[in-house]
Amino acid sequence: MSKINYDLTRIRGVVFDVDGVLSPSVVPIDTDGNPRRMANIKDGYAFVQAIRSGLKLAIISGADTDPVRRRFELIGFTDIYLGHLEKLPLLEKWMDENGLTPDQVAYCGDDIPDILPMKHVGLPVAPRDADPDVKSVARFISTVDGGCGVARELLEEIMKAQGSWPVYDKMAFGK
Ligand SMILES: [Mg+2]
Repeated sequence: MSKINYDLTRIRGVVFDVDGVLSPSVVPIDTDGNPRRMANIKDGYAFVQAIRSGLKLAIISGADTDPVRRRFELIGFTDIYLGHLEKLPLLEKWMDENGLTPDQVAYCGDDIPDILPMKHVGLPVAPRDADPDVKSVARFISTVDGGCGVARELLEEIMKAQGSWPVYDKMAFGK
């Protein structure tokens, strides 16, 4: 029984904000005054498995930095939209291009610019430490804070429901 009250077998696409979702809300500032980001390695494993399983993943972020783009390119993301605070038009375009209906999409966000896109999809998700107004429109609130495995928790639940999450005793190591 999933901890997420939604028919996860319908999900075909998952969209993530970066700051406060994949990276914590509180991060160091470098000597030039720019915030640094952090990456959760367990999120990374789930991204790789999700892409392999055929789920469509996208990043839509207000931040626009080369390290963030490179991080997600290296993982295998092909749809990375950075520097966008108006997220809903982009989300709608991405869904159109991929033939996705709202019930087939999960969107994970933590702050005010995420509210409109969250209202547009079937499964809006917020980290545990998201803004209260964002949490009020979420259908699932992660058990962990932003940067602490929000994507891992969500993608693991989706792939378990879809039978595509790796099961240790069924893995054929060395073959
Ligand atoms: Mg954010």
